Amino acid sequence: MIWEPVLAKFKELFGDEGEIGVYFAPGRVNMIGEHTDYNGGHVFPCALTIGTYGVARKRDDKKLRFYSMNFENLGVLESSVEGLKPEKEADWTNYPKGVMWAFGEKGMKVESGMDLVLFGNIPNGSGLSSSASVEVLTGFILRDMFGFDVTNQDLALIGQYSENKFNGVNCGIMDQFAIAMGKAGHAIFLDTATLKYEYAPIRLENAKIVISCSNKKRGLGDSKYNERRSECETALAELQKVVKINALGDLTEAQFEQYQDAITSPVCQKRAKHAVYENQRTIKAVEALQNNDVALFGKLMNDSHVSLRDDYEVTGIELDTLVEEAWKIDGVIGSRMTGAGFGGCTVSIVKDDAVDAFIEKVGTAYKNKIGYAADFYVVEIGDGPVKLA
Ligand code: ADP
Ligand code: MG
Repeated sequence: MIWEPVLAKFKELFGDEGEIGVYFAPGRVNMIGEHTDYNGGHVFPCALTIGTYGVARKRDDKKLRFYSMNFENLGVLESSVEGLKPEKEADWTNYPKGVMWAFGEKGMKVESGMDLVLFGNIPNGSGLSSSASVEVLTGFILRDMFGFDVTNQDLALIGQYSENKFNGVNCGIMDQFAIAMGKAGHAIFLDTATLKYEYAPIRLENAKIVISCSNKKRGLGDSKYNERRSECETALAELQKVVKINALGDLTEAQFEQYQDAITSPVCQKRAKHAVYENQRTIKAVEALQNNDVALFGKLMNDSHVSLRDDYEVTGIELDTLVEEAWKIDGVIGSRMTGAGFGGCTVSIVKDDAVDAFIEKVGTAYKNKIGYAADFYVVEIGDGPVKLA
């Protein structure tokens, strides 16, 4: 079991007395519907069987003792449940602390401390939402430990609230929702405007989902993300002068073509075009799956990448290389960047008998062009958070 060494680490650091719980929350990958979640559009993510393991025990006092096997150099980081606030020195513990703070803000004060050891087997900072995985995991642990009356959907909202308000990351609801509501073998077709959702089975006969991680170091990603959000807001405000909509996701392609001239800046026009078309593509992609048309689903994934590359301009040479090399390979049904972009990962649907060639060929071409290696994960779609022991 993957969690056994995590439990062993917990006992080594914090002793083995008392009631110790072992928990897991997945990471997620978004199959299609990128940069639509803050534009009132649809997304189509799924939870993965890789994610974050947590071993936790409630304390009698107010102390927090946190340790992550992914950040061993930082050792045990101590703080308190009193006066929770983000601190630079607190590093990664700002994520679990943010969730504790958010529970307090929602009227569920965390009155006592805990000892916690984490281990994640998803890459950090790569767009598979390790941060949301830690948030949902923390919320799930708090619910189990303190008996808070919250649903999994509430855990998603609390996680997003903490990431927005405590960690200052202006993310939409997709990541936490996909993780908290995950269901094995299914992706979640989520309308981010209403939070209405539907599970759609992903039946990939003779094919796998392969994630290619660019290993590109974080650059301007965060500031560009905020820039894209404000470009969409500008476009929306101008469109609202000529058509009654709440969000870009309310428009069909035909309506966008009719009204697009209301957007004065050509750049904002391109950004809005992506938001509108990507939302419609996501709706079509889910229909394609329902009709068992995986080939059409793959084509829509490819179109999504082109739109993110040319109109939304959030890809970059690393993600473009991974995707364009993937497109050359026989047996690749579809491939696109996933997550916010600028770095992070791509997601591809690859026929079983082409997976080895995919990893070999895309890996070699990437290393030759970019100068360092990409990592590949053949993933399975898993359930939401669970208590394992
Ligand atoms: P992403 O969510 O795409 O993986 P983020 O930058 O949003 O990237 O989140 C990564 C951050 O989340 C890490 O730098 C760390 O602070 C925190 N984190 C994620 N996984 C773990 C873990 N297993 N242990 C401790 N902190 C983690
Ligand atoms: Mg994140």
